[in-house]
Amino acid sequence: MTKRRVTIFGATGSIGQSTIDLIKRAPDRFEVVALTGGQNIDRLAADARALGAGLAVTADPARLDDLRAALHESGVEAAAGPAALIEAATRPADWIMSAIVGVAGLAPGLKALEQGTTLALANKESLVTAGPLLMQTAARHGARILPVDSEHSAIFQALVGEDMAAVERIVITASGGAFRDWPLERLAQASVAEASSHPNWDMGQRITIDSASMFNKALEVIETKEFFAIAPERIEVLVHPESLVHALVGFRDGALMAHVGPPDMRHAIGYALNWPERAELPVARLDLARVGQLNFRAPDPARYPALALAQQVMAQGGLAGAVFNGAKERALDCFIAGQIGFNDMTALVAGALDQIGSQSGLDDGEITLDNVARADHLARKAIDAQIARRA
Ligand code: NAD
Ligand code: MG
Repeated sequence: MTKRRVTIFGATGSIGQSTIDLIKRAPDRFEVVALTGGQNIDRLAADARALGAGLAVTADPARLDDLRAALHESGVEAAAGPAALIEAATRPADWIMSAIVGVAGLAPGLKALEQGTTLALANKESLVTAGPLLMQTAARHGARILPVDSEHSAIFQALVGEDMAAVERIVITASGGAFRDWPLERLAQASVAEASSHPNWDMGQRITIDSASMFNKALEVIETKEFFAIAPERIEVLVHPESLVHALVGFRDGALMAHVGPPDMRHAIGYALNWPERAELPVARLDLARVGQLNFRAPDPARYPALALAQQVMAQGGLAGAVFNGAKERALDCFIAGQIGFNDMTALVAGALDQIGSQSGLDDGEITLDNVARADHLARKAIDAQIARRA
């Protein structure tokens, strides 16, 4: 059996480390072409050595010497900076994991698709900011995108052998995040530490806070629309505190196909890693008799105003997704830095959407990498301007 050649973008993060865990368990099936990371040079170098990677790249050019030193006499090539990241995406591979956090993941993923490489997509920001560009690039180059977000992997699996024309609706579940049972009036005072702990999933800090605010689910609704080409009104969000049902697909005959599994990203990652086969994976087996009950409820719009913003973004189309994501990323930076409160994030993102949506030229702008970068920049500026006005 020939080995599958894999590259991992964002190898040092939560998704990257889970991907590496699976690869380390099956060393005879995978060959590692390249790993990329950020500031965690020790982790990056240790994994590159352990996996015998051809190349390791840090996103930060200032850390190149550190990376070189850490890789001394390992035979692993070291590189740094945005151009090196893009170059890594052109190294021949069969499968590339896109697990950088934020819009920074877009350009390397696009480059991978241009090579015709299968892209395992954890970086939902790519689809939110540039969905049509990503899907068209994949189609043009005969490249496949495999969803890694747990809900989207679940939908993808529920659709095997099905005809999209028979799909009536798609339901994605949400745990409700850290504050699902808090009194509403307490949310304004929520601290970064409180927002950074997730009831069910162990993930990077940014997506964990986005789960508390439901910005994560807002991004996922847009991701669903872009990836599965389904109308916004056919996408539903359902709060499900146990996080065991990840998504459901409703068909026109009334059937609902649910995907049920433990909250362990190694399932969705492993499904994409081994696709189209199902390999044995080291995830817990659910004992539903012990689980006993599964709960579901409609999301409360007052608690989760970010969900309504997703509807606004989808209705607007064009570069609204890039504005939304850029504004969200900047507002999240400011919340983490202690500059704004938890509720301010949604208020500021809403303000940025309204402000930029009314500027001529952007809302119907073509979705190119340059225009996405422009929209992203304007959105971040709009957040900062609102904060400056308040001060
Ligand atoms: P993380 O913060 O744990 O890791 C992020 C990775 O990206 C790190 O390797 C970091 O070095 C790298 N990185 C950060 N900024 C970068 C930049 N500007 N340029 C290049 N590299 C950069 O994040 P995560 O939780 O693993 O999430 C990664 C992606 O997967 C996100 O898009 C997230 O929404 C998505 N996702 C994560 C989970 C999860 O369980 N963690 C689940 C579903 C989807
Ligand atoms: Mg998800």
